[in-house]
Amino acid sequence: MNLGLLAERVAARTPHATAVMTSDGTAMDFATLARRARSFSHHFHARGMLSGERVALAMSNHVSFFEILLGAWQAGLIVAPMNPRLLPVEAEALMADCGARLCIATPELAPGIAAVARREVLDVGSEGYSAASAGENTDPAVELPSDAAAWLFYTSGTTGRAKGATLTHCNLQAMIDSFLADSGCAVDEAMLHTAPLSHAGGLLGLAFLQQGLPQVVMSTGAIDAPAVRQALHLQRRSSLFAVPTLLNRLADPDFLDQKARGRVAKIMFGGAPMYAEDLKLAIHALGGERLWGGYGQGEAPCTIAHIPSELLLESGEHDREELLGSVGLPRTGVEVRIAGEDGRSLPIGEAGEVQVRGRVVMAGYWNDPAATDKAFQDGWLRTGDIGRFGSTGLLTLVDRAKDMVISGGSNIYPREIEEALLCHPAVREVAVVGCPDREWGEVPVAFVVLRSAATAGDLDSFCLTSIARYKRPRGYRFVEALPKSSYGKILKSELRAALEAHPLNNTKETQ
Ligand code: AMP
Repeated sequence: MNLGLLAERVAARTPHATAVMTSDGTAMDFATLARRARSFSHHFHARGMLSGERVALAMSNHVSFFEILLGAWQAGLIVAPMNPRLLPVEAEALMADCGARLCIATPELAPGIAAVARREVLDVGSEGYSAASAGENTDPAVELPSDAAAWLFYTSGTTGRAKGATLTHCNLQAMIDSFLADSGCAVDEAMLHTAPLSHAGGLLGLAFLQQGLPQVVMSTGAIDAPAVRQALHLQRRSSLFAVPTLLNRLADPDFLDQKARGRVAKIMFGGAPMYAEDLKLAIHALGGERLWGGYGQGEAPCTIAHIPSELLLESGEHDREELLGSVGLPRTGVEVRIAGEDGRSLPIGEAGEVQVRGRVVMAGYWNDPAATDKAFQDGWLRTGDIGRFGSTGLLTLVDRAKDMVISGGSNIYPREIEEALLCHPAVREVAVVGCPDREWGEVPVAFVVLRSAATAGDLDSFCLTSIARYKRPRGYRFVEALPKSSYGKILKSELRAALEAHPLNNTKETQ
């Protein structure tokens, strides 16, 4: 199996259909994409690169992403797309980790990377690149076993050292199949990439590619309202992948006017917790039929559970509040269980680690047998997320295992406190982390971004109306903004570090 043939297969039936487009309207059809990918594959071989070698991508969103991906796969290579916001030295560390022979970089990143990289760097704006993609190559694609590695997904690393989840051609095909079964794409739908292609957006784009649908690539970082509105007008209907922060912005009527909203086929939201209160606002603003919630991780790319659009419209047998606070139902082709510390499956209602099995689950971490070993338990992928199943089959995440706060021997899930505080009208954003405490071991502390005036006392009284006393934050820090990764995930590690630098003065006032 070689996914590098995706564009060729489409080109054989609809060669002139648009494959990739930039937000200024410049388009490339499937025949051209297939030809350029083949040319690339030949170029890699001409450089002496052998099947199984790695090529790293240091690219902000760029129209050439897909031709490089497909060309590399046709040549049997493994791609390692890196977060474009990494510092050059951080990118070099990832390239050293996977032993990349070549790095392909977008023009604004290439000089910085070249200054520190201990490998060759090819700038997509260079003449060398143009020549590599302009050849007329007829070499057949390398034949690969389906468990051949295709994509090293460097986990976003909100904590700890980044590891390369090794995704095989078979894993990615399973991801595409599951997406088409659970969400699907209509024949008149395009995918609009506002999020980095190196992460879930690029992975989900493969399904659109396979279906012969256009992808509109917006440059990373240009997520302002006029740019999104303009890009939406390039296609009749577009779907977008959005982390919760972006979904919240898209739900704002000042961001997407009615005309632009009419062009939205679907917003696939996920990648980080979506709070029930925010989801209600998004449903109100955009309509449940335009939303689809996805829960996954690099190790099981984009594919563990989902909230189908039809349930966001009409919850059916499911309790509405439970549905909106959940990550939905297990995805097609994926088994999901909740495991206790002893590795046994837990009954409905009990919280434990979410574990996953299926064709979509990674082969392991690149060159890291010890981490791979830890990531699996009896053949199940350990997600590190804590969740529980409800009686109607909905999976609710209570937290990341490592974010859980243990206070006086009781487990406190920050997510629960965050959901509670978000119901306060003055709270715009909140993140709760554990702070070391002599008496209790740890106590929860809330970092809050306010939309209007409120005091710690107001929030404390408010918490007492919805969560148990022992769970309420023992301290509040009011901040202008929460630290976020370039993928939009709140960096709790930074909040913990801030607390370490400036500990709470008095944590004894309440219990
Ligand atoms: P990454 O591998 O960087 O995509 O991070 C995956 C992690 O993000 C998961 O293990 C979850 O902790 C979190 N995550 C992803 N999607 C969701 C979601 N829909 N709801 C809550 N958390 C999510």
